[in-house]
Amino acid sequence: ASAGQALADNLNASERTHFVLVPLMAQGHIIPMADMACLLAEHGAQVSFVTTPVNASRMAGFIEHAVATGLAIQFVKLHFPAVEFGLPDGCENTDLLQSRDLFKNFMEACAALREPLTAYLHQQRPSPSCIISDMSHWWTADISREFGIPRLTFNGFCGFASLLRYIIVRGSLLEHVEDENELINFPGFPTPLQLTKARCPGSISVYGLEQIRKNICEEEIKSTGVVMNTFQELEALYIESFEQITGKKVWTVGPMCLCNKDINTMVARGNKASIDEAQCLRWLDSMKPGSVTFVSFGSLACTAPQQLVELGLGLEASKKPFVWVIKAGDKFPQVEEWLAQGFEEQVKNRGLIIRGWAPQVLILWHKAIGGFMTHCGWNSTIEGICAGVPMITWPHFAEQFVNERLVVDVLKTGVEVGVKAVTQWGHEQKEVTVTRDAVETAVSKLMDEGEAAEEMRMRAKEFGVKARKALEQGGTSYNNINLLIQEMGNQANASG
Ligand code: UDP
Repeated sequence: ASAGQALADNLNASERTHFVLVPLMAQGHIIPMADMACLLAEHGAQVSFVTTPVNASRMAGFIEHAVATGLAIQFVKLHFPAVEFGLPDGCENTDLLQSRDLFKNFMEACAALREPLTAYLHQQRPSPSCIISDMSHWWTADISREFGIPRLTFNGFCGFASLLRYIIVRGSLLEHVEDENELINFPGFPTPLQLTKARCPGSISVYGLEQIRKNICEEEIKSTGVVMNTFQELEALYIESFEQITGKKVWTVGPMCLCNKDINTMVARGNKASIDEAQCLRWLDSMKPGSVTFVSFGSLACTAPQQLVELGLGLEASKKPFVWVIKAGDKFPQVEEWLAQGFEEQVKNRGLIIRGWAPQVLILWHKAIGGFMTHCGWNSTIEGICAGVPMITWPHFAEQFVNERLVVDVLKTGVEVGVKAVTQWGHEQKEVTVTRDAVETAVSKLMDEGEAAEEMRMRAKEFGVKARKALEQGGTSYNNINLLIQEMGNQANASG
């Protein structure tokens, strides 16, 4: 049993701080919240983790792990009213949405979980001490008021992007920008930064979402604080600025992915992996340390088939080993055909292609990996930071362009591949915007010898060490988790 388990056993169940975790049902949000559940439970708290049948079955490996290790996590499986809100039966995760226009229905179906969740929580002992909810679940604020407990928000962003989003939303900075090439300034942002509208968080317009956005913002202001999957040593300036501008306390408790300590939890993370882990590890073990580039664009990015082919040709031209995760096969048969027509055979000695869900942290943290080509989703980015490897940034949409700036300009642990166009979520990109030459150049910049690359590798390695320290006993995030549990427990006692 872990030290956390011993701590949990030492606490009388009725005295435990009881957190209710309500993730947005998207892989990039469920995964970090599952990690958060583990960390809180390991530090002695009790957790109720809200999910739905389809999402629970994807998390089966995680649930098994939680049960087997005796973590105090309860999985609250609520019926998801997909059909009632005009969605296909079983459409319980954003990656199952057929069109972006259905996002509104999806969010309304989520809001309908308020009553069943409230009823469930009324029966629980100890009663809830605190709700940690995805920021988009504004309706959880009603539940926190009903129970007289704090609501903390989580949205999966780092401090840098959270601050920028807040400045944009509060200042309505995007509202009157017509010119798509105009560079926008961000008053109050502590370091130089300019972006075009399409590269800003909040720039995606989704049909019918205005009222929901309004609710989210109103409840955000009333929330007690914010939980972030980051750590002080990485971006203290931006976390501090965020606290100052918002007047909210920030609990930095990351990198939360570090709670995945053994192979089984790494393989079961998010979804069942589509590759046999032993085969994957054998392949990685056969490669020289630090020689392989890991290429993966997360769970939602929709890269055009011809762009994928171009990327593959760039990897081939680089003559360097790579692991490439491709999710397009089921959507774009032409990519599969192209792979089968010779590409896979041609690169077989130095390229491993994974179709579908990859055990990302298992691969990233293997010693063979020397670089990470990423779409800059925050989870992937911080997982790369933990791996201590430099990155090639290839953002697609949302706050990924902002994370790219953090990695390239502030941390100086990555190079841009040079993305020109924004590939909006749910909108298929049509043309090739990143050439094979650009891919080859970026891989060389990252993986070759030479002073600049060496410096970048050193910096990345240092951040990797700091990341691990933050969650070790006495580290900043470790201490914050304990303080969070104490403070929320005290508040519950005071109000109860
Ligand atoms: N992930 C994974 N295997 C995959 C694709 C993604 O394990 O094949 C995980 C990845 O490690 C990360 C999450 O899914 O934890 C994706 O979150 P991120 O914020 O990087 O991107 P999003 O999918 O939200 O765009």
